[in-house]
Amino acid sequence: MMQTPLTMTHMIERAEKYFPKKQVVSRTSSGINRFTYKQIAERTRRLADALVKLGVTKGDRVGTLAWNHHRHLEAYFAIPCMGAVLHTINIRLAPQHISYIINHAEDKVLLVDPDILPLLEKCAHELPNVKAYVIMTDEKELPKTKISPVYHYEDLLAEANPAYQYPNDIDENDPAGMCYTSATTGNPKGVVYSHRGIYLHSMALGLADTAALSEKDIALPVVPMFHANAWGMPFAAVWFGTSLILPGPYFTPKLLAELIEQEKVTITAGVPTIWLGLLKELDEGSYDLSSLRGVLCGGSAAPKGMIKAYEQRHKIPFMHAYGMTETSPLAVISTLKSYQEELDPEEKLNIRAKQGTLVPGLEMKIVGKNGEVAWDGREMGELCIRGPWIASEYYQDERTLDAFRDGWLHTGDVVTIDEEGFVKIVDRTKDLIKSGGEWISSVDLENALMAHESVFEAAVVAVPHERWQERPVACVVLKDAFIGKITKDELVEFLKPQFAKWWIPDDILFVSEIPKTSVGKFLKMALREQVQKDILPKN
Ligand code: AMP
Repeated sequence: MMQTPLTMTHMIERAEKYFPKKQVVSRTSSGINRFTYKQIAERTRRLADALVKLGVTKGDRVGTLAWNHHRHLEAYFAIPCMGAVLHTINIRLAPQHISYIINHAEDKVLLVDPDILPLLEKCAHELPNVKAYVIMTDEKELPKTKISPVYHYEDLLAEANPAYQYPNDIDENDPAGMCYTSATTGNPKGVVYSHRGIYLHSMALGLADTAALSEKDIALPVVPMFHANAWGMPFAAVWFGTSLILPGPYFTPKLLAELIEQEKVTITAGVPTIWLGLLKELDEGSYDLSSLRGVLCGGSAAPKGMIKAYEQRHKIPFMHAYGMTETSPLAVISTLKSYQEELDPEEKLNIRAKQGTLVPGLEMKIVGKNGEVAWDGREMGELCIRGPWIASEYYQDERTLDAFRDGWLHTGDVVTIDEEGFVKIVDRTKDLIKSGGEWISSVDLENALMAHESVFEAAVVAVPHERWQERPVACVVLKDAFIGKITKDELVEFLKPQFAKWWIPDDILFVSEIPKTSVGKFLKMALREQVQKDILPKN
């Protein structure tokens, strides 16, 4: 067989050649903008040329700090197809983590949304590698900013070559993108995606038994383009000629419902928090969302009641999936087998609320205390995955050694697997809390609390939350001399300047001791149960 390179240039050129009339609808701060793939493809060539003129060369990292819109989509292709690396930066991270990752990736140019500039201004003084800031604004004038040098995205495009030719010497294993993911403690860890990985992962999104993304779809990725590449949906959609609807900044459930109704969206993707918000809107309002053939839900466990409400009350089919930044991300998806369709509705729902079966192309093993676990839906073990769209390391990071030992990605997710091969996540070994699809490090919060003069010990655990899935609650053992003399509010005030607002624990509980393992580590599982059963109800 021929060894033609699996590069992303083919993907954008296919949209340009075969789907020039198909649409990209992009919501920006000034409203709804409509483009054809012909226009997007030309603007993408212009952006690639503009980046060359700014001095970006092969292998350089170009960062984006942006919402889901057409300019971000152009960056998604222009950067990798010119041979550079698209580094999508999670704007919800704390400023010190944002500086760290921009410096660690050595981003040369940053493409920034105007409303994110204030965030960047906080750290721009400590970014020595950044040579240019390009503002992705709808306005004619650049916003006032202390940052320099700044360029206007549209001005750069206007002056650039619309017939720019992508280099033809890109290797399929060359880096195309990168994204940092939160660690249990300390700085985020970088994952580098190759052209080949993105190409093959996009194909997987098109398989009939996964998301079945196709030209006939109108796809709305609600998951941010800075979070695991919006689950790869923009890449695959462009390649397949799928119409794309990009929801832009600060959308509400009402706005999403209207967008789905008006644009006749067929498939959408996001974390449970988004779908819980939309469900409330659908229950209260009157919308026709009958165009939807699927809501892809992942990032945290999709509550069974929510799946049921969507399917039974609103006749909207749900697709529960699992993945990680390290897995591009699609790895497991809950699609019933043909003979399971005959089961009664409740049984089917129970299966579909699991994370699902492995996507073709990947391999997995689940390792428990005594080796690989039985397929009985009961024995627990850590999920390990490998395959062509699974990262093989963290970018220049010694934490690679542990997570990628023996040629497998050790996910840190504790799962069971049933007789039919359906994986169910039951716990995680990583000491992180996932709130609204974003990570909070319990260890960092604990360390901060234990730095307070009154605190003897502190453990932070996740408690279930209706809207955010999980929220942090801190259990604090005070030093004897401070018992009765320090309040929760004082500790909260102490934490506030150190963390993003949404990291601050919902509650701080004073306890007499924290349960520990035989080797003296916090027994988080026991503490979590204790907090939920005994401590919180009494509080
Ligand atoms: P991220 O890299 O931020 O996308 O987070 C990946 C992690 O989110 C996984 O390792 C899981 O802990 C969690 N996760 C992703 N999808 C699901 C799901 N469907 N159910 C439960 N947890 C999930």
